[in-house]
Amino acid sequence: RQQESQSLYQLTEKAAEFYREKLKDHKISTPAITYLKNRGLSGAICKEFGIGLAPPGWDNLLNQLGTSAEKAEQLELAGLTIRRQDSDGKTEPGKRHHYDRFRNRIMFPIRDQRGRTIAFGGRVLGDDKPKYLNSPETPIFHKGRELYGLWEARQANRDLKRLIVVEGYMDVVALAQFDIRCAVATLGTACGEDHIQLAFRHTQELVFCFDGDRAGRTAARRALEAALPHMQDGRSLHFLLLPEGEDPDTLVRQIGGERFDTLIDEQGRPLEDFLFDLLGEGINIQTMDGRARLSKAAAPLLDLLPKGVYRQLMFQQLARRTGLEQDMLEEIIAAEKARS
Ligand code: ATP
Ligand code: MN
Ligand code: MN
Ligand code: MN
Repeated sequence: RQQESQSLYQLTEKAAEFYREKLKDHKISTPAITYLKNRGLSGAICKEFGIGLAPPGWDNLLNQLGTSAEKAEQLELAGLTIRRQDSDGKTEPGKRHHYDRFRNRIMFPIRDQRGRTIAFGGRVLGDDKPKYLNSPETPIFHKGRELYGLWEARQANRDLKRLIVVEGYMDVVALAQFDIRCAVATLGTACGEDHIQLAFRHTQELVFCFDGDRAGRTAARRALEAALPHMQDGRSLHFLLLPEGEDPDTLVRQIGGERFDTLIDEQGRPLEDFLFDLLGEGINIQTMDGRARLSKAAAPLLDLLPKGVYRQLMFQQLARRTGLEQDMLEEIIAAEKARS
């Protein structure tokens, strides 16, 4: 197994090199270079993130790295090729059993905490669907446990004052282009507890900065729930909600890095504000019924908080907002728990 992983790392790195070379190959790279330039990315930043190009065609990578039957199998295991769905499964001489997963896409290598390339995200150059294609889970890639850009952020900073969690590859790279070198992205999945734990291993302060659209708001709510069990003294969590239709990439290109930083400092909503705003949506706190509904809705969420000062403070907040005593709230929690 160890050996198997070892060769997968090597193979994935070789693929990354191949994609990078293709981005330098003038015969085919012009549309890709133009695309990256139009998105405001410099050669230096692309290099830092190891961005490459998967050429058009079904077997470019296969021809380069899948030169034996064994190598071809490994490429499939690495998620870089896909096995053809043959009805009879018979082997005809000279017939290829695989084709390249990534074709005609800008390639973002995903690196683990030691800087090893373990997977890729690939973006189409235009408006084709799917816009992004990610490597599948492999023996060396578990997307629920990796954060895109974390390794790069650690390389760029001795201490990470904070990490900004965004949705997309382009958001991470665009922020880096504007010298904000502390953004990380989940990889086309919701931000889960493993992501939060990983991030908190490297910094005490997280800022969630998701897109100003419905998906982004849903992601923020999910991230909140995933983060609550991991809130301890000293850790802080903020939410920066972007204007409708913007994402970190589009916004930083409009306002620049300094103003983006200021925006985080000044407009980032602390966890407690964000949580109570969310819970309070559509509830009139002036009425008794409203206060009852707020405590019922808040109870299971606050119950996710580990015992400690933070939990105490949040319950105080809820007590203040509902006018209920804290032991009353504990009772409500117990009752809600018993019901579910
Ligand atoms: P871009 O700026 O390049 O158009 P984006 O990152 O703003 O892309 P979103 O639509 O906001 O794209 O999606 C956020 C993230 O969700 C993407 O970066 C990608 O990781 C993931 N994602 C989006 N579409 C898909 C898809 N069709 N399949 C898998 N993952 C996707
Ligand atoms: Mn979006
Ligand atoms: Mn987006
Ligand atoms: Mn975008």
